[in-house]
Amino acid sequence: MRLAILRPEYTVPSGYCGRMASTGTRLRNYIGGAWVDSAASESLEDRDPSSGELLAEVPLSTAEDVDAAVRAAQGARREWADLAPQRRARALFMLRDRLWAHRGELAAIVTEDMGKALDDASGEVLRGIESVETACGAPSLLKGENLEGIASGMDVEQWRQPVGVVAAITPFNFPVMIPLWFLPYALATGNTFILKPSERDPRPSQRIFELIDEIEEIPAGVVNLVHGAHDAVNGLLTHEGIDAISFVGQASTARYVMEQGMKTGKRVQALGGAKNSIVIMPDADLEAAMPNVMGSAFGNAGQRCLAGSVAVIVGDETRRAEVREALAEAARVLPTGAGDEEGVVCPPMVGPDARDRVSDAVDRAVEEGAEMVIDGRGITNEAGALMGPTILAAADRTSELVREELFGPVLALVDVADLDEALEFVNGSRYGNSSSIFTASGAAARRYRKDVEAGMLGINIGVPAPVAWFPFAGWKDSMVGDLHANGSDAIEFYTRKKVVTSRW
Ligand code: NAD
Repeated sequence: MRLAILRPEYTVPSGYCGRMASTGTRLRNYIGGAWVDSAASESLEDRDPSSGELLAEVPLSTAEDVDAAVRAAQGARREWADLAPQRRARALFMLRDRLWAHRGELAAIVTEDMGKALDDASGEVLRGIESVETACGAPSLLKGENLEGIASGMDVEQWRQPVGVVAAITPFNFPVMIPLWFLPYALATGNTFILKPSERDPRPSQRIFELIDEIEEIPAGVVNLVHGAHDAVNGLLTHEGIDAISFVGQASTARYVMEQGMKTGKRVQALGGAKNSIVIMPDADLEAAMPNVMGSAFGNAGQRCLAGSVAVIVGDETRRAEVREALAEAARVLPTGAGDEEGVVCPPMVGPDARDRVSDAVDRAVEEGAEMVIDGRGITNEAGALMGPTILAAADRTSELVREELFGPVLALVDVADLDEALEFVNGSRYGNSSSIFTASGAAARRYRKDVEAGMLGINIGVPAPVAWFPFAGWKDSMVGDLHANGSDAIEFYTRKKVVTSRW
């Protein structure tokens, strides 16, 4: 722990508490290099969705807390931006090493905090580390461009400079990976940073910030953590001292964040929700496809923006019956239970409220005529957060079951005659995050790749998550803004371009 470096713009708040990231179970914010109590009187409970155990109380930080974080970030801004890019990268190498050394512990906290299977949580932590590794290469990505002799004795150069103070507002379903889609790139490009993690599972972020706190090369104020929910988000969106916002969450929140952020002239990238289709062609190898489809639909209890929640079955009646039976059989035996149990694919949802919401949506789908193929509503756990894999054959292609994001372990089945009809159905969605096709035909795969309206596509892959060197985001209502997360888009988003025309 470093003591906060006092700067004219920022003084350590009266709640300064020193070394500890929490008071008992109540979490603290990390502002200006110190753990501080929030000014909030209200808090939310963070419970383990497997055991129901209380893990933390999450303060609902106020605009006052946000303002302290912004002032700390503004205070550190010039010094950090002026540091040589390779020195900023070196600080990120240190973060990478700490995350690597603590990767098992971070995965265990993810499983405890939001239920995800431990294997999945380990995968998420590795994906987050890959984003840090990518950002470590920022010095070469930050290089500008130039053009000599555009007129007599006249040259043009383009420079990249940091945007300023940037904030990220993140969802519950990837509490390590998604904050790391933003933090390392923001720092590598010379910005200072504030994270508002999900109020549902903030402990992984807290642990990451404890690790950052040990890194002398990241000065106080460069990164800040503010816990909370709507008030903290609104504090960030309306604060004149914040220059850019990266957001990931539901589509409706993404649109709200974009609209509010723009009112104070911020640069905004807002990644939203999804309803992804998996097309199973008549020539698909079902044995190879089934584990992929199960993992996509029911892994992390369907709480992924890349979850395949509609299976589009292409073929005649006999083939459709064969595929439906294969899906039902695989779902029936799918390992379901606590995230730390060996081999579990379908773990609990984030909390009992999420489970109730999804179970109610299944009730409505049945009332509207959907045919139940596999019913997971009867499966639950001590905390009331577990629901088993559920498959329904859709009666109506415009229904909530088929067109809206349920974000739970529910797979809808839609029958189509051929690839044209599959494309027409898939492209009829208001979302366009991802899609997958399972086929043995290169021609079908190519046609699908070319014509599907989605930002991320899997060919014989159920969860087509791009690695960190490529941009991550969808199309249509799944993304508001232009620049995606990760890869070269992150460098674009976190820098402003300056073009200099000169004659000497
Ligand atoms: P959410 O929208 O409820 O919350 C996301 C963040 O916004 C949280 O930090 C929350 O505190 C804040 N927030 C929520 N409602 C708000 C409001 N009305 N006013 C101000 N702030 C608000 O999302 P979630 O339930 O945590 O996450 C799941 C969603 O995220 C799903 O829709 C999923 O598809 C989406 N997601 C998308 C991607 C992607 O890459 N497109 C990745 C992961 C998750």
